[in-house]
Amino acid sequence: MDYKYVTKSFRDRTVIKIGEVEVGKKFVFIAGPCSIESYKQLHDTVEHLVDIGVDIIRGGAYKPRTSPYTFQGLGEEGLKILKKVSDKFGVPTVSEAMDTRHINKVAKYVDIIQIGARNMYNYPLLKEAGKLDKPILLKRGLSATLREWLYAAEYIMKEGNTDVILCERGIRTFTQHTRFTLDIAVVPSVKEISHLPIIIDPSHPAGRRNIVKPLAKAAACVGADGIMVEVHIDPDNALSDSKQSLTIELYRELVNEVKKCL
Ligand code: PEP
Ligand code: MN
Repeated sequence: MDYKYVTKSFRDRTVIKIGEVEVGKKFVFIAGPCSIESYKQLHDTVEHLVDIGVDIIRGGAYKPRTSPYTFQGLGEEGLKILKKVSDKFGVPTVSEAMDTRHINKVAKYVDIIQIGARNMYNYPLLKEAGKLDKPILLKRGLSATLREWLYAAEYIMKEGNTDVILCERGIRTFTQHTRFTLDIAVVPSVKEISHLPIIIDPSHPAGRRNIVKPLAKAAACVGADGIMVEVHIDPDNALSDSKQSLTIELYRELVNEVKKCL
């Protein structure tokens, strides 16, 4: 393979500093709603998350939805809300950029830019992400091999931005018992060859609330560098990914149990 940046021949280990958080050094807890819906929704969710000890807040403003008729996110208004809440509580943020036309705008408001599973193969977007001076959270494509995923990271790093965090979020397989199949084995496989931090999103593969916790615990046990979990102040009424979003209480329990696995 003609990798130049993602392998250990380039660097032994990558630690990405975002304020006081060091991704790649200590297990990080990223949590927040799937979508930013209103100031109150995000504020009230984050207030509890900060109490629990979250490291980074997540929340989507530009949403890649399967149906064009469902909630598409608040766009820039959502980013403004995220920034306001982040400033109030002093917690860094991650949010998705879906398009080369707005990635610079997203970068103005957030600390980490997410490239979602559906855009892992969007090479123009990866190249733009590579020109930014903000860390990139690169989700694995729905059907991406490890090789394709690492090349996607390579696209970003080649442009100069070497602060890439990989995020395994489940892949499409023949199984029907979960929304996606969480490929736990990809964590040690990445660690064998790459210096990049890798986190796990247990929410999207789970697809339902009651099995998020065991997947999160597996992430800690298998050596992931962190988890990103969807949490909502009122998950039953969430405008996206309601079924897999945790209540504050379920998230508190999850964090307590994950910590025992570290
Ligand atoms: C998300 O994080 O809400 C999301 C849309 O993720 P993915 O790109 O992994 O589906
Ligand atoms: Mn989601």
